[in-house]
Amino acid sequence: MRNHLFSTSKIDYIRGNKPDVDCILCGIRDRSEAVKNLEIFRSGNFIISLNLYPYNPGHLMIFPRKHVEELEDLSEDELSEMNRLVIRSIKILREELAPGGFNIGFNLGEVSGASIRHLHQHIVPRYGNEAGFLDILSGTRVVVIDPNELQKRLIAKFSP
Ligand SMILES: [Zn+2]
Repeated sequence: MRNHLFSTSKIDYIRGNKPDVDCILCGIRDRSEAVKNLEIFRSGNFIISLNLYPYNPGHLMIFPRKHVEELEDLSEDELSEMNRLVIRSIKILREELAPGGFNIGFNLGEVSGASIRHLHQHIVPRYGNEAGFLDILSGTRVVVIDPNELQKRLIAKFSP
């Protein structure tokens, strides 16, 4: 997996060069051509996709298919469906990428760093040998895995 060096930058996004849709996650849901298709899995009420600007290889987002901005807008049933998907994602990422740990959670509200209003939960695999200094130097992170290849592997894993 080490023959493809993929680097990504969030600079364009921060400058406002966002994809030309009202909501990027609704765009993924609607399979809009303006949004890169990073979808991995679709359940009754949720979608799992790779993050467009991954913090680490295997960085996933789980978000409701309906455009919801607050966690309290989800029903009990939806919350448990989302939790089941989180656990399933952890198991699959462990099998595929063998991370040393995970950061999992929400950024709620702009002051928390949320750049997309559509509610989404991050699942960020953490590895023991991360080269974090690249973030500090240039805002760029080197991801030593081909994201398209990873997407294919994860789609296969999530398929029943
Ligand atoms: Zn939306």
